[in-house]
Amino acid sequence: MSDVADRANDLADLQRDQALEKVPRYAGVSAAYCEDCDEQIPDARRTAIPGVTRCVVCQQVIE
Ligand SMILES: [Zn+2]
Repeated sequence: MSDVADRANDLADLQRDQALEKVPRYAGVSAAYCEDCDEQIPDARRTAIPGVTRCVVCQQVIE
């Protein structure tokens, strides 16, 4: 009988853990490729500017 109770507790713990993981992950996601010219955006730029979607050249053109 105790085995059944343990499994029920494990299941409850698992569901609680999954609920706690519902944290937004979309914030600050940088694009791997420029949305204008499709050139690859350097990792350094993607890290320096969270959410960046354009390469240096295209960003300068827009600004
Ligand atoms: Zn570009």
